Amino acid sequence: MDASRSDVLILGGGVIGLACALYLLRAGLSVRVLEQNLPGSGASHGNCGTITPSHATPLTMPGMVGTALRSLFHRDAPLYVNPRPDLDRLRWLASFARHCTWRDFNRAGEARGALLARSRALLGELIVQESLDCEFAEVGELYVYRTARARETDQAHVDLLGRLGMSVESLDAAQVHAMEPALREGAVGGLYHADDARLRPDRYVAELARRVRELGGKIETGARIDHFGTTGKRISHVRTTGGVFTAERIVMALGAWSPPVARMLGLHVPMQPGKGYSLTWPEAPALAPTHSLVLREAAVCVTTWASGFRLGSTMEFSGYQEGLNEVRIDALRRGASAFLTVPEGRGAAVPWWGWRPMTVDEVPILGPSSRWSNLVFATGHGMLGISMSAATGELIAGLLAGPAPMLDAAPYSPARFGI
Ligand SMILES: Cc1cc2nc3c(=O)[nH]c(=O)nc-3n(C[C@H](O)[C@H](O)[C@H](O)COP(=O)(O)OP(=O)(O)OC[C@H]3O[C@@H](n4cnc5c(N)ncnc54)[C@H](O)[C@@H]3O)c2cc1C
Repeated sequence: MDASRSDVLILGGGVIGLACALYLLRAGLSVRVLEQNLPGSGASHGNCGTITPSHATPLTMPGMVGTALRSLFHRDAPLYVNPRPDLDRLRWLASFARHCTWRDFNRAGEARGALLARSRALLGELIVQESLDCEFAEVGELYVYRTARARETDQAHVDLLGRLGMSVESLDAAQVHAMEPALREGAVGGLYHADDARLRPDRYVAELARRVRELGGKIETGARIDHFGTTGKRISHVRTTGGVFTAERIVMALGAWSPPVARMLGLHVPMQPGKGYSLTWPEAPALAPTHSLVLREAAVCVTTWASGFRLGSTMEFSGYQEGLNEVRIDALRRGASAFLTVPEGRGAAVPWWGWRPMTVDEVPILGPSSRWSNLVFATGHGMLGISMSAATGELIAGLLAGPAPMLDAAPYSPARFGI
């Protein structure tokens, strides 16, 4: 038996690759994950860890292009587009702009909502069945508003969640302050999403990796994919800096790195890295929020765990530009201090950045490639990879090993982009 061969090769050891690996192993297939660094070293590491059916609402909303254009002149805006000309980014923006219609907004909302709801239901089960120790808590998420205008702007979000049958409760100022004494005076209202939850994402990913190994899956670390061998319409092997590997099927779960790697196969994946930042303290402040919060005008997410406290978010389109941007880290601190009495945790804050895999239509790309007969995509989860991880794993395992997936896979098909 060829030791470098498995039923399935998974490219990328982030939350999506590992969730796919776990569900495929549970379905009885042999699996090997190829990861250039360590598992969970990409976007899956320092994100906010919220599990949010409430985020079914896509960014592709009429009016979003105007917001993006205004941000060109504000380096600390929650949504920032780097004005330096870049052909890929311009093409992506033009295509994203074409999706900012009510029709596409509703279509994307339905596709995201179905995946999010299934994932939320599965996650609770998965964490118990696999004993994943990751500070999972079913605490809901509260959006907080300090201006009536921002609350009004989110009416489309409330209406969409209502149509999708998702829980959202509108709160007045007194109810918001009663629910969260950690808030500064001055909130005008809130939206409470009772079905949302949270976990510690680095722990969740480490626990997924542990279970993958325990179930016999292999995780190759330091294995950077640099070439594909092909025969006709099949990928015959994958070459990495850690060896050459073969498999019946290949799952691309490379997050924001999917476009450059897919280009080696002649595929144009319409995605851009949406850079985000977080600041994490080892201890929460004495007066910490009990729910996860979204501070709406600042677009800052606040997560409290027993093991720490995190401010996160901001969306920056600057291509594959690595590293921290102090202006944007400061925007997190400033945003939090406008809303919270004690906006920072205790101990030394650890800054982090990561690239969200942003598709042009805000819907993940899941399912078989229309160009390569043994390639399957599991990428493009944007702001929601942690939330969508379990349903993605279940869907990909269902497509590759059966039984037929619970979800209709059509809305996520790579065929919509001809890849
Ligand atoms: C600030 C911020 C906050 C967020 N908050 C939330 C949240 O609260 N809830 C939520 O659901 N989502 C959140 N997200 C989004 C979430 O983090 C992502 O959607 C998710 O991590 C994507 O997972 P992934 O496995 O697709 O990608 P990644 O985790 O980036 O994994 C891709 C992997 O591929 C590897 N790789 C790349 N190139 C190669 C190569 N050539 N060879 C081998 N390996 C390679 C990388 O090293 C990486 O480990 C947030 C993101 C950010 C940035």
